[in-house]
Amino acid sequence: MPLEPQPLVLPLDEHNQLLVKNVHPGKWENPEPASRYNLVVIGAGTAGLVTAAGAAGLGAKVALIERHLMGGDCLNVGCVPSKGIIRSARAAYDVRMSGEFGVRGAEKAAIDFGAAMERMRRIRAGISGHDSVERFRKELGIDVFLGQGTFIGPDSIKVEGKLLRFKKAAICTGARAAVPSIPGIEQTGYLTNENVFWLTKLPKRLAVVGGGPIGCELAQAFARMGSRVTVLQRGGHVLPREDVDAAEIIHRAFVRDGIDLRLMARILGIEKRGTEKVVIMEEAGKKAELPVDEILVGVGRAPNVEGLDLEKAGIAYGPREGVNVNDMLRTTNPRVYAAGDICFPYKFTHTADAMARIVIANALFMGRQKTSTLVIPWCTYTDPEVAHVGMYEKEAKDKGFDVLTLTVQLADVDRALLDGETEGFARIHVRKGNGKILGATMVARHAGEMIGEISLAMTAGLGLSSIGKTIHPYPTQAEAIKKLADAYNRTRLTPLIKKILTAWLKWQRS
Ligand SMILES: Cc1cc2nc3c(=O)[nH]c(=O)nc-3n(C[C@H](O)[C@H](O)[C@H](O)COP(=O)(O)OP(=O)(O)OC[C@H]3O[C@@H](n4cnc5c(N)ncnc54)[C@H](O)[C@@H]3O)c2cc1C
Repeated sequence: MPLEPQPLVLPLDEHNQLLVKNVHPGKWENPEPASRYNLVVIGAGTAGLVTAAGAAGLGAKVALIERHLMGGDCLNVGCVPSKGIIRSARAAYDVRMSGEFGVRGAEKAAIDFGAAMERMRRIRAGISGHDSVERFRKELGIDVFLGQGTFIGPDSIKVEGKLLRFKKAAICTGARAAVPSIPGIEQTGYLTNENVFWLTKLPKRLAVVGGGPIGCELAQAFARMGSRVTVLQRGGHVLPREDVDAAEIIHRAFVRDGIDLRLMARILGIEKRGTEKVVIMEEAGKKAELPVDEILVGVGRAPNVEGLDLEKAGIAYGPREGVNVNDMLRTTNPRVYAAGDICFPYKFTHTADAMARIVIANALFMGRQKTSTLVIPWCTYTDPEVAHVGMYEKEAKDKGFDVLTLTVQLADVDRALLDGETEGFARIHVRKGNGKILGATMVARHAGEMIGEISLAMTAGLGLSSIGKTIHPYPTQAEAIKKLADAYNRTRLTPLIKKILTAWLKWQRS
């Protein structure tokens, strides 16, 4: 029996039709290839789009190949739709919590899930023009090929029967949701980030497998939109990469949001019983069952290495780490580079963008830029947000740094008190003696905005005392950072300096 054609995106309303028209138009005809390209880019997610656009802008003859939707994960099934629904969920939460600010009658405000999802689809479609096939072809002069790119040799790629010869190529094929090998999961069916944004009806009961950034963001959003959410986390706390006290704040927020958080949960199997999906698990040595309407899997990312025929181009790769690259993003084939989720452990849109710029310089202009010099911030968009840059305290100590760690609680920041957003902190790790910033963690409602100041300081080599000299407007939550600098300056007031200052002031009075 012939396979049913898979939809590119659902539902096919006016917004998704516009999206598809922009990022995978049905009537697209691939161009005739040039005799040779300066650069062929496989994959039109953030890494591929930025690499292709940047190279073409500098005069290179560029081909860009995409098999699914231009814009990749970020636009279609990642950052954009997730932050869209998180905003609706936050609005619902704020309205319900507005009693604290003197607003009456809003405690039971409910969200219209269908309208929230439609808002997301409308905004996503609006943004999609920027990543569109037409823009890349007409405005940027790039040869766009829709289809699966496959290496057929060290300097050539095939797409839809056409041969593309290149001087240099960039693999930007990204990653997809990793699916845990749980007995029964395939037969029962599950959601991932690839289809959860297709929903038009709110699942009444939702199990979220995985308490990492994607699981946590979506669990909280769905809980705030009215689902009864259970998070199943294998480890002892959510957001395992972050500081434990940061994770504990998120844990408390989840409890407030009505999320049932099951830690150290071991899933034994999943069964379909009637219309229900039942998760069978072991908790604290006891077997338990969790009946739900939907299961959302968010347990990590698997690199898209399949179907590329990397062996034919002499490119080394692994099923977990993806394409092997050196510090300058060159693969084991000197003509071929890689960027983004396909080759990097820090899987973010902004790192994909930064790596694309490195690939342009190194592949086309004999640059020697290195990923190891990048200062990489990230943020998990829970409420409060958890943002981080640089090293954690233990990591810095393990690397032999003499570390001074300073923390300011948001409860000590006037603006946070006035906003009713006191849960969180600003934490910084500096090198004792010179104040060089080694890393920082912010937990705050807008931590993602706050971490930018520290990232700038680290990139520019500015110490914490420079931040101390910077005037911050009052009252802002970013004053927490200024307070960190003040706390650092106080540590520099040694007993001897204090004695000298006291003696000077005493002499002034005489
Ligand atoms: C739910 C979710 C939320 C996220 N939120 C954030 C966030 O808030 N902030 C952030 O910074 N990051 C976020 N991310 C991560 C971010 O989306 C990715 O890091 C980013 O999209 C990586 O870009 P990329 O170009 O490397 O890969 P992708 O965006 O995955 O693009 C790769 C493209 O290559 C195509 N492709 C693959 N193989 C082939 C082939 N053989 N031939 C042709 N085309 C091919 C794919 O179809 C795809 O379009 C989120 C991810 C998810 C899943």
